[in-house]
Amino acid sequence: MKKPIYVTQPYLPPLAEFIPYLEKIWESKILTNGGPFHQQLEKELCEYLGVKHICLFTNATIALVTALQALRITGEVITTPYSFVATAHSLLWNGIKPVFVDVDPNTLNLDPANIEAAITPQTTAIMPVHCYGHPCDVDAIQKIADNYNLKVIYDAAHAFGVQCHCGSVLNHGDLSVLSFHATKVFNTFEGGAIICPDEKTKIRIDQLKNFGHVGELTVVAPGINGKMSEINAAIGLLQLKHIDQALARRQAIDAAYRQQLKDIKGILCLKDAGEKVANYAYFPILVNTDYPISRDMLNQKLKDIGINPRRYFYPLITEFPMYRGLPSAHKENLPIASSASSQILCLPIYPALPMSAVEEITQFIAAQ
Ligand SMILES: *Cc1c(COP(=O)(O)O)cnc(C)c1O
Repeated sequence: MKKPIYVTQPYLPPLAEFIPYLEKIWESKILTNGGPFHQQLEKELCEYLGVKHICLFTNATIALVTALQALRITGEVITTPYSFVATAHSLLWNGIKPVFVDVDPNTLNLDPANIEAAITPQTTAIMPVHCYGHPCDVDAIQKIADNYNLKVIYDAAHAFGVQCHCGSVLNHGDLSVLSFHATKVFNTFEGGAIICPDEKTKIRIDQLKNFGHVGELTVVAPGINGKMSEINAAIGLLQLKHIDQALARRQAIDAAYRQQLKDIKGILCLKDAGEKVANYAYFPILVNTDYPISRDMLNQKLKDIGINPRRYFYPLITEFPMYRGLPSAHKENLPIASSASSQILCLPIYPALPMSAVEEITQFIAAQ
């Protein structure tokens, strides 16, 4: 039996290259709390990503929760149903009411045209997602935020290395949150980060991720433990050395899929959102009614031959029990997200995926 193919496979650099990092940790006995690898990774990521300040975290979910705390967000936050559930969970963890609005049919990102109608006196912020690494309409969103005096926190879990019309997409909004989970383009096994625009905010976030400690004896806020360990930071430093190669390989796979799928009736490859530099984090297709079989049938048939795509994002966040009772969670409020959720299939894409597998997948899809 052939080895199964999953939607992603974490990129791991050669083990031998990691040993010297471990030796340094064993020598120094510094395991966490902002050690040398942690500091070095923050510096190198700022340079690589083209951002001013970064706060490393143990994962993106804790980073999202902390980002909301750092800006003292309360009341209601406008967000998208078309995302991984952690986006909305971060709001509930802060006692904030999520208000869901529909997405744009081309990018599946939160549609700025729907934001204003959802604003109430309780609204304090907008939390959009750069879905699949495609930039949101950052200018339109900022304009609304400025008009209504709202904060913008981007869930940028998919957007490592992505550049829009004016440099890194991570420089938009008040804060952006990255995920370095094993399934993401750049991973530290588990990990995440908040990108912030100024030193003052970085200091506050660094306090919040360390129990609210300032120095030895003072605690200024009910902070959490969100610190990234030295092992994870070391993995990140090593990953960074290989990231450009990994992204180039993803780009080639993306191009091959597009070429091979372009003439199949009922299969639509999601367009990019005009990014200058993409990261090819996902390869989403929409399976519509012109295709001979349903999306779920295609998903199952691929699984039967050992290929495991994923229906990101199905179900919508608004279908989970802790959200579905909210007025904004009704399907009639979210027709585009609902339709996309019923058609979406993310095909396998990762640096080690052989081109022969891409061909096998596209030929199988063409043959239904
Ligand atoms: C992966 C992901 C998260 C959560 O990231 P973790 O690092 O696993 O906590 C949040 N939002 C989105 C959109 C994600 O894809």
